[in-house]
Amino acid sequence: MRIAFLGLGHMGLPMANNLRTAGHEVVGFDVFAGARDGARDSGLPVAETGVDAATGADVVITMFQTGAQVIDAYRGVEGGRGLLDAAAPGTLFIDSSTIAVDDARAAHALAEAAGHRSIDAPVSGGVVGAENATLAFMVGGADADFEAAKPLLEAMGRRVVHCGGAGLGQAAKVCNNMILAVSQIAVAEAFVLGERLGLEHHALFDVVSNASGQCWALTTNCPVPGPVPTSPANRDYQPGFAGALMDKDLGLAEKAVALTGVEARMGMLAREIYRDFAAGEGARRDFSGVITDIRDASASAD
Ligand code: NAD
Repeated sequence: MRIAFLGLGHMGLPMANNLRTAGHEVVGFDVFAGARDGARDSGLPVAETGVDAATGADVVITMFQTGAQVIDAYRGVEGGRGLLDAAAPGTLFIDSSTIAVDDARAAHALAEAAGHRSIDAPVSGGVVGAENATLAFMVGGADADFEAAKPLLEAMGRRVVHCGGAGLGQAAKVCNNMILAVSQIAVAEAFVLGERLGLEHHALFDVVSNASGQCWALTTNCPVPGPVPTSPANRDYQPGFAGALMDKDLGLAEKAVALTGVEARMGMLAREIYRDFAAGEGARRDFSGVITDIRDASASAD
């Protein structure tokens, strides 16, 4: 199986190398020279252009930042050839970038019109998951295309879920991250309220982690130091999952909410809170660091 892997950033490079470890022939490419150098240093063969990488590939995987980057690369920009044109008909396109549902559907439609197969396959699990091949993949696309992609996704991850047709992998991702944002804020507010009421962090943690308020934002990503020694709060909120990434994902949630007309007041309030958080130092801090903003705002209200 010859695989073109485009986008060799924080996530893409370790994912590409895991495919190589699984025995596939992988050729990488990134528009950023530094990423190409890093890939070569890691032993990954790197093509001169994305089009060169896609030519003769059985599978083309993209791991970019935005939907516009995916669509531009598929189509080609400024009269240049795109990946869809370079690849042989019937090539399987896998986009693992986190992008808007409607952008993912547009990418599927472009691939289909060019005679290719495609799936959207965003991930959760972060850089550690990419390095250790323990990512979770959420997949949208036709059954046969999902089945064709599954062994490759399993070489890069631990859990692969077929969520439905085109764009529904991105839909699952955006729904999950909207829940995560709301619950991380709720847990942070509860700890600050507990502090004001005289509750020790450990006491609140021991109760809630065994009660109906239990959630990942508390038991894995606890926003105060102490109760969960591995949570980012214990290392001054070094990410983890940076505020800038949560802000980006909530922008995708906002787009989906606007597109569907859903009444998502909590989700959209979380979107505003994380937009403010990521406008400052929070962009580079773990998103559980939002507790600091909540505490500061509460102190000034005294
Ligand atoms: P990154 O910025 O480190 O890497 C993206 C790479 O794509 C960059 O090196 C960029 O130069 C390259 N690129 C853009 N357009 C290109 C093109 N046309 N051809 C070739 N290369 C191109 O980003 P990342 O952290 O690896 O994240 C990638 C995606 O995964 C994002 O959509 C992100 O939201 C998502 N994601 C990231 C994490 C995380 O923890 N970093 C977790 C889950 C999901």
